Amino acid sequence: MNINQVPAKSILSKSAIFDYVINPYIGCQHSCAYCYARFMKRFTGHKEAWGEFIDVKMNAPLLLEKEIKRKSPGRVWLSGFCDPYQPVEEKYGLTRACLEILVHYKWAVTVQTKSVLVLRDMALFKGNKKIEVGMSVTTSDEGVRQLFEPGAASIEARIGALEVLHSAGIRTFAMIAPLLPGGQGLAGELKGKVDYVFVDRMNYHYADCIYRENGLFAELSDKFFVSAGKRLAADFERQGTECTVLF
Ligand code: SF4
Repeated sequence: MNINQVPAKSILSKSAIFDYVINPYIGCQHSCAYCYARFMKRFTGHKEAWGEFIDVKMNAPLLLEKEIKRKSPGRVWLSGFCDPYQPVEEKYGLTRACLEILVHYKWAVTVQTKSVLVLRDMALFKGNKKIEVGMSVTTSDEGVRQLFEPGAASIEARIGALEVLHSAGIRTFAMIAPLLPGGQGLAGELKGKVDYVFVDRMNYHYADCIYRENGLFAELSDKFFVSAGKRLAADFERQGTECTVLF
């Protein structure tokens, strides 16, 4: 693993999904096979495989402290092109330092992760109605999780973290995205642990060889996504959880 400390030029960027996005790191130790963020390699000149390098933006909190005073308040997404709670965050604490600033200035934040390290910062989220915390939960099959998301937490650990956060009164959500093989039955496991759910299909081809090599190609078909999406929507509706299917 190649970990570099780098200076960033800016940190509070415009986002197409939310008002702003903060990426404290470039690269992601979770190494998801389908990850769209690997395009960042082109902009940074990294030759290592995705998941084998991390650039740590050491000046992220300093930049945020300056930029937040110049920009109109809006919702900030943590993060877009990396997991804000990947293992390196335990040492550098940039996500936490940025969150402390956002909370101080009373900005709204949407945290999205696949890591239980997010629980470390529960005290920052508790009682703050402007903060929501989501987990990507893509399958209930741990074997499938290991194939596609080798560096991320187990599905059981992610759902457990959602339960802890939700029980503490924190607004929580699940991103069933991309919907992987074995994800069609997730409604029951998420029951009572999330306020809302998004479901999306696989939109990238980076992981096609994993589907092929493991005889999973049927779960990459329109037929699978349509039927699994319908089942999830119906199951969540039955249990009273808001569910948006994005395809
Ligand atoms: S956790 Fe997100 S950013 Fe990190 S490798 Fe997986 S998909 Fe990419």
